[in-house]
Amino acid sequence: MFMYGFDPVYFLFALPAFAFVLYAQWKVKSTYARYAQVPSPRGMSGVEVAQLLLRQNGLGGIGIERIPGELTDNYDPGAKVLRLSDSSFGQPSVAALGVVAHECGHAVQDKVGYGPLRVRSALVPAANFGSNIGVWVFIIGFPIHLLALSWIGVGLFALATLFTLVTLPVELDASNRALKMLRQGGFLVGAEMKGAEKVLTAAALTYVAALAQSMATLLYFVFRLLGASSREER
Ligand SMILES: [Zn+2]
Repeated sequence: MFMYGFDPVYFLFALPAFAFVLYAQWKVKSTYARYAQVPSPRGMSGVEVAQLLLRQNGLGGIGIERIPGELTDNYDPGAKVLRLSDSSFGQPSVAALGVVAHECGHAVQDKVGYGPLRVRSALVPAANFGSNIGVWVFIIGFPIHLLALSWIGVGLFALATLFTLVTLPVELDASNRALKMLRQGGFLVGAEMKGAEKVLTAAALTYVAALAQSMATLLYFVFRLLGASSREER
């Protein structure tokens, strides 16, 4: 991973988290595929439900765009645009409605000024900087025994970890809002509701896995630096 080749110790930290990431990705894809086969009531498609949900929440001004891919759906708070993937845009399925409602949940968070979303948005530049530059600052400082420099690298990388942590409440809240909107609006009932819930729970797991992966790397850096510090003191 760093220095003059690959560090096998890194495996000890990274492997469980990596396995968790793979599992979460498999889980969300398989759950989505399963509920993409379950038709939505009255054959309503993702985009139709998105338009209705936005209007019901006083967000008629928000644009809707179609983007390629599967599960690439997102809400852009800067552009005030809801981007729906090919897999949900025109699809009349329980899975599509769940995902679309989740993105509408983010739009509502933006409208009401939901705290964690604001913190998350403010963290984006620092997190990008930290995940890229932090690792390099650590790598440069370590072999030349400038451990203070490496600690700065760790601090920068921790910003990226903090970002993945703040992402969790934002995602869970968007899913809660989504399920509430789908239930109250009568878009889904009974087993359909359960299906949408399963899709969103699986999606949330990918964010937990991302946090675990970031934390594993952070802990590895700290472990290495503490080891190096105690060696230098001797
Ligand atoms: Zn989300």
